[in-house]
Amino acid sequence: MKIINNIQELKLQLQQENKTIGLVPTMGSLHEGHISLIKKARKENEVVVVSIFVNPTQFLANEDLDKYPRKDESDKKICALCEVDYLFMPNINTMYSQDEVLIKAPKINSFILEGEKRPGHFDGVLQIVLKLFNIVNPTNAYFGKKDAQQLSLVMQMVENFYMDVTIVPCEIVRESDGLALSSRNVYLSHDEKAEALKVSQSLNLASKLVVNLELNCSTIIENMKTALSSEKIEIEYVSIVNRKFQTIETIELKNSIILVAVKIGTTRLIDNIWI
Ligand code: AMP
Repeated sequence: MKIINNIQELKLQLQQENKTIGLVPTMGSLHEGHISLIKKARKENEVVVVSIFVNPTQFLANEDLDKYPRKDESDKKICALCEVDYLFMPNINTMYSQDEVLIKAPKINSFILEGEKRPGHFDGVLQIVLKLFNIVNPTNAYFGKKDAQQLSLVMQMVENFYMDVTIVPCEIVRESDGLALSSRNVYLSHDEKAEALKVSQSLNLASKLVVNLELNCSTIIENMKTALSSEKIEIEYVSIVNRKFQTIETIELKNSIILVAVKIGTTRLIDNIWI
């Protein structure tokens, strides 16, 4: 595995390879969720590139950019073990100049749910994803369904800009108790982690309701909110949308996503299931 932090060097190497390329963009602090994306990329491409870059433009001023967990040395080991070919670890000055052409995420999709809670977040996400795509020119790029709205917006950008890359959605990886893996889980205290289980439990409850043919979204949301209710949990949203992120009143099978965002202490957690 080659570790590269220079854009021209990576471009040159990849151009010389002239092979199918799978890109896995990450912010590091790698866990089994990231590893599942990397393994899928490894199976489906001749060359695998993982990028690790904690992208400042997708963090709001009051968010955790400075304390975002960084584990460069163990990340390098994980990537080597997963047989990554190129690990791209640029610094901020490599990726951004002082004054830049900016990408604006589309209004309708990016100012609801995560976008409403984190205005400007998706502009930063698309900015960095576009840069990475232009540097790596991947055949396939791997994104987790955990960040469902991000996945949908990246797909829209690819479509709107006629980009020649296939976006591959990847399943959410969970701990055995159901908690969706996230680099931010390290912020949770022991007690908070116990509370956090209510998030996946509320989603399990929703899927059981659907299996029992309760398809009314308001009823499902009410049940989920009851399951989540706790002094320690601040519910940011419980929402049900179709795959175009339009709010729906009745579950559409194979076309619905049930999403939850909560705050437990100072830690913000998101999770979802695709129905
Ligand atoms: P991040 O490092 O948090 O920016 O995540 C990098 C990629 O890994 C994104 O496409 C995420 O959606 C994906 N990802 C993060 N957590 C999980 C998980 N638990 N299961 C599957 N994919 C994940």
